[in-house]
Amino acid sequence: MYFSEFNCQDSSKNQLLNLFSSSRVPHALLLSGPEGCGHLQLALSFSTLILCQSPKNNDACKECSSCKMNEKYQHPDLHFSFPIHLLKSEHSEVSDDRRKLFISTLQKEKCLGKKSWYSLMGNENKQGIIGVKESQAVIQKMILKSFMGGPKVLILWLPELMNLQAANKLLKLIEEPPEKTYFIFVTDQKNKILPTIYSRLQNISIPKMSSSEISGFLEKIFHLSASDATDLASLSNGNLNKAITEHFNTNSSELNISLFVKWMRLCYSRNIADTIDWVNELSKMGREQVKDLLIYSLEMSRKCILGNFSASTEKINDKEEKFLSKFQPFINHKNISEINGLLNDAHFHLERNANPKILMLDVSLQLYKLLRK
Ligand SMILES: [Zn+2]
Repeated sequence: MYFSEFNCQDSSKNQLLNLFSSSRVPHALLLSGPEGCGHLQLALSFSTLILCQSPKNNDACKECSSCKMNEKYQHPDLHFSFPIHLLKSEHSEVSDDRRKLFISTLQKEKCLGKKSWYSLMGNENKQGIIGVKESQAVIQKMILKSFMGGPKVLILWLPELMNLQAANKLLKLIEEPPEKTYFIFVTDQKNKILPTIYSRLQNISIPKMSSSEISGFLEKIFHLSASDATDLASLSNGNLNKAITEHFNTNSSELNISLFVKWMRLCYSRNIADTIDWVNELSKMGREQVKDLLIYSLEMSRKCILGNFSASTEKINDKEEKFLSKFQPFINHKNISEINGLLNDAHFHLERNANPKILMLDVSLQLYKLLRK
């Protein structure tokens, strides 16, 4: 992300640009502010500027090889450190084990919040941690020469989740970093950062965003209409992450409902030729979308059952309601457990690299039978 793209937080942006233009960029910087205030986006755009080979007009040039790599957060001298769930069985012990997931989310959503990060890692209620292995990894990466011969930057997201051991290990490196090495810490809760770390950082406080900044960002980056952007912004309470997440949720539920309706109609009518076409189209959307649809279908079957046995008090949107009011008798106590098992198994196999085309055709053929039970 470039400074010029991030059309928010002008005064914080100017503070950063002043540091840069007067060559006073501290080696350990802290951007602190409430979740969704844009501090992560500021850190990303500031890193792009630091790593640019020929910055001009207070921004990165957008043309050099460094800028091109930074557009996808793939610059070899841009490092990330962030809390993860420590799961020994999956060898998930350092941030780089989760780097792909972290970066792909940033590429798509241009933001990341703590809760949504935990949920991406598989458990929204489990707190992530920056542990001692991660500190070791950071030291190893940052003491090496840079790949491109220029500066190196490490964005450390949520330092408040660093444990004592990890913090102690990093102190010396933060205090005496190698030449042209920059640490940018991004925190939602600066009062929870261990004092030994906090005292070594130069803090810039970032205020909450205004609704108009949020709507402006949504219009510019995600091409929302002015009225949609204003609606989302006014519900977000100054939290950019919240507005963006809501935007993606709405979009994906619209796509999922139309896929689900089509799929169930095909399965009920047992139209094999059209089912094959549909499966082919679906698998072109990618494995993640197929997984998404399966989760959504599980949720919809649950709603059918709720609707069957009691007056549902759940909030469902108009399109869902319209379809479910006719469809719900077809998922009932005779087939629900098999349908549930079928969809769950399919999701399980997709996560383990099953071929989506073969798998979804098979699931559809089984639904042909189950829906008529
Ligand atoms: Zn550049």
